[in-house]
Amino acid sequence: MRTEGALLEQAVSVEGVREVRPDSMPTSSYVRFHIETSSAPPRRKQPSPFHPRVSKLGLAKILLAEAYEYGLRLRGREYREALLSRPCIYGVFGGRFGGFKPIKEKCTGCMRCVQEYPNVCRVDRNPEFFTFADSYWMPDHYIGTGTTPLAIVSYEASSGKIPIKGMGYKGPFAGPGWDSIWTDMSEIVRPTRDGVYGREFISTTVDLGRKPKYLDFTRRGVGKTSRILEIPIPMVFDYLPNNLNNESILSAIAAASRRVGTYFVARPEQADWIEDSRGENLIPLLEPKDVESHAELVADAPAVELTSSDPEGLIAVRDINDDVPIGVRLPIANQSPENVVRLAEEGLDFIHLIGNYHGQSLNGSPLHMKDLIRAVHRKLVQESLRDEITLVASGGIILAEHVPKAIICGADLVALDTTILMALQVELLTELRNADQARIRSERVPEKWGEQRLVNLLGSWHDQLIEILSAMGMRDVRRLRGDVGRAMFNEDLEKEAFSDIAHTS
Ligand code: SF4
Repeated sequence: MRTEGALLEQAVSVEGVREVRPDSMPTSSYVRFHIETSSAPPRRKQPSPFHPRVSKLGLAKILLAEAYEYGLRLRGREYREALLSRPCIYGVFGGRFGGFKPIKEKCTGCMRCVQEYPNVCRVDRNPEFFTFADSYWMPDHYIGTGTTPLAIVSYEASSGKIPIKGMGYKGPFAGPGWDSIWTDMSEIVRPTRDGVYGREFISTTVDLGRKPKYLDFTRRGVGKTSRILEIPIPMVFDYLPNNLNNESILSAIAAASRRVGTYFVARPEQADWIEDSRGENLIPLLEPKDVESHAELVADAPAVELTSSDPEGLIAVRDINDDVPIGVRLPIANQSPENVVRLAEEGLDFIHLIGNYHGQSLNGSPLHMKDLIRAVHRKLVQESLRDEITLVASGGIILAEHVPKAIICGADLVALDTTILMALQVELLTELRNADQARIRSERVPEKWGEQRLVNLLGSWHDQLIEILSAMGMRDVRRLRGDVGRAMFNEDLEKEAFSDIAHTS
């Protein structure tokens, strides 16, 4: 944590002027939010996506030809090293046994070797890599970019850093789902003032709960709204059912939530797995009929999430804890806009829109989460209800960039689900598409290690959010909500560019 004073000192030293602060000058209690990260290396080796191969005879010919060309210069070490690393500039064939034992992990899939020596080199996909995680985490359109969401999350959870390759973007122009949105980075001109290392503050705090439409000084206590839960980052950990969860996973989630100051959603019986089961970061997920039997949990809860909307459940929670924010899980579907309006009018404080783990609606709608969130947000704006309730979105949010994209579409914050499992390197037994059908291998995750991996993940995503906001010239993530002017949607651009052509053909 760094105080404003420390930041002022830093700013002053950059400009080479000595700080003069009068004794009477009040020091601010403002503390810049920062997530402390530290290394948490992977506990399992992740297979590399590429399988580079070289013909031994072909390689020997290349090396002999080059050795002949270099001649006496080969007495220099650098020439020998350059020769022995041929034909890959990333050192794939530069190990002790050169091309006879390629170091596959170093291959970025740039295909330079294949282009230069098509008869000697070959780069295939590594089949092991594609069975390591499910199709959503290893999408085909990422192949050729030298990475995948799984590799990115693995790096973030290991290091807590922003993944930067410095090789330029090699992927396709647009892809399905979140990859069809491009964020507006037109303000990326002031790196010393903004961003993670900048001097200006960018708030990533979001509110969970109902905001009153107007102030009423006459009816004290009547029509009272819930309190607002302030969360320092627009990310919470979502509920993972028992088939994708266990004591060690939940303990790591709870500890990471505590350290970062965010929240996690769990069933009361799952909460019993962890020591501090009534911790201040637990949002209990309850069936409306079970509220009364968990009265103690509800009384201490920072917020309560119901599995379905039921006026009885709402009343039961209010009777126990009259100002706790109450939300409901709502599978996102075509009818969601109307349903959300109804729920907002019934008095719910937040709605948790859930898609499947691949970012699709649960009722078979072909629309992606992004389109459905936009439809819900638009409807709430039309009904003048948008500022009253909070929208949480989960399902298929697996990369740091998906967070601002979901917020641009209209969510206030997101809940992370399978990203937790990937950060913890949990072994999958099935595709991770639907919560009730997916399975993981039962094993104990080292808790301290798991906690650090999740803290690192949030630290990296928080830094990336700051970078994106600064590149947009924004100082507060709450201002990004529903601001579609900050993004371009591939479908819209294609319609604009090709609609006339389609019409005349
Ligand atoms: S594809 Fe690129 S990184 Fe991989 S072996 Fe060939 S040159 Fe090296």
